[in-house]
Amino acid sequence: MSTTPSSTVVITGGRVIDPANDLDQTTDLVLEGGKVKSLGNVSKPGTIAETVLDASGLIVCPGLIDIHVHFREPGQEEKETIATGAAAAIEGGFTTVCCMPNTDPALDDDGRIEFVFHQAQRADLANVYPIGAVTKARQGGELAEIGLMAAAGAVGFSDDGVAVASAAVMAKALSYVAMTGKVLMQHCEDPELGGGAMNDGPLANRLGLSGWPRVAEELVIQRDILLNMRQNLGCRYHVQHVSSGGSVALLRRARRDLFGHAHITAEVSPHHLLLTEQECADYNTLFKMNPPLRSRRDIEELLQGVKEGVITILATDHAPHTREEKEIEFVAAPYGIIGLECALPLYVQALIDTGTIDWPHMLAMMTCNPARLCPLPNKGTLAPGADADVTLIAPKQRWTIDASRFKSKSRNCPFDGWNVTGRAVAALVGGRIKMLRDGERARGATESVSH
Ligand SMILES: [Zn+2]
Ligand SMILES: [Zn+2]
Repeated sequence: MSTTPSSTVVITGGRVIDPANDLDQTTDLVLEGGKVKSLGNVSKPGTIAETVLDASGLIVCPGLIDIHVHFREPGQEEKETIATGAAAAIEGGFTTVCCMPNTDPALDDDGRIEFVFHQAQRADLANVYPIGAVTKARQGGELAEIGLMAAAGAVGFSDDGVAVASAAVMAKALSYVAMTGKVLMQHCEDPELGGGAMNDGPLANRLGLSGWPRVAEELVIQRDILLNMRQNLGCRYHVQHVSSGGSVALLRRARRDLFGHAHITAEVSPHHLLLTEQECADYNTLFKMNPPLRSRRDIEELLQGVKEGVITILATDHAPHTREEKEIEFVAAPYGIIGLECALPLYVQALIDTGTIDWPHMLAMMTCNPARLCPLPNKGTLAPGADADVTLIAPKQRWTIDASRFKSKSRNCPFDGWNVTGRAVAALVGGRIKMLRDGERARGATESVSH
């Protein structure tokens, strides 16, 4: 199911939404030689293209980007590999992902960064860019080889899974990462206050579970903002998986008063927009996350943050775990859920169906905004010359999430069985079709000429 990179593809009659270029119109898109060639009506697409995709009724947008996934390779290949993770990404319409360094061993030197690129190339599905560890083995002490990893292609740095807890180490890390021009992504959790099994509060007390309070997140955000500002470091600083409404208030003020928008950004994940701590009441480990699910009020504040543009990026925090690991008592189970294959309709439900934002705004948060953060040149845009990474979306398609059919190796998905609306129906990477659903073939949006 792939055409050669040099072939020409015309995608006809779709609603082309390209937020990077403020474009939202029904037109045709021409891809050639693995790049975007042009936008605009094509009179006889069959005469110029080996492949014609009929996209009428569909949204055509730059390939979706998820800057926060866990692919578990090396070290825990029974949960996910770079190849199975990339397959899950494509299935969900994501053509580019950034994988976190909490593998075993951690991605903390240039050789391991190169390993990720190598495995991704072999899989030949989604583009996979590694995030390097901030500190050696993610232990929070000595800085990792940030300069060497940046030179090897790491697009950002994080100790995700844990925060860089020491202020002194963080200050040094901010100054080193600033020199590379990359982004420092922080898992904001003060380890002395966080680490509980669920949101801190009356429900945790009633269930007899340890609490992980909002302030553990907020303190780290505020500390990092101050470090970055007071020392005039100007590092790109990105808050991963915001869960607390209080964090939105801190980010709002920082983006307004302290730096300018480029230097402080934040992402939010589907589960923090749709689920609350009430889900933990039955001790179902599929609802154990880090940071934990919070309250309805937090969700409202997160939605407000998205609407105002305080939170500018959507990310899944796709975190595969085996069934055996999740089927143990709540306290002992690992944190996290998988998300790549059902994120898109969940964002639709959380953000579009609630009237919070529209399709162009939502797609900006999944295309050009993440591409600019890292940065990922030639991604997240349909400008002529950009990489021909394209996602086709059926915005009204109703379907049922069925985790048993996921391409991911893992099944830890609390949304299994949900009836949702909106689905990626085709994904192209470098002008080559990596996913095209049968339904699209049946209704005529098919390759007109085989290869
Ligand atoms: Zn994290
Ligand atoms: Zn994570």
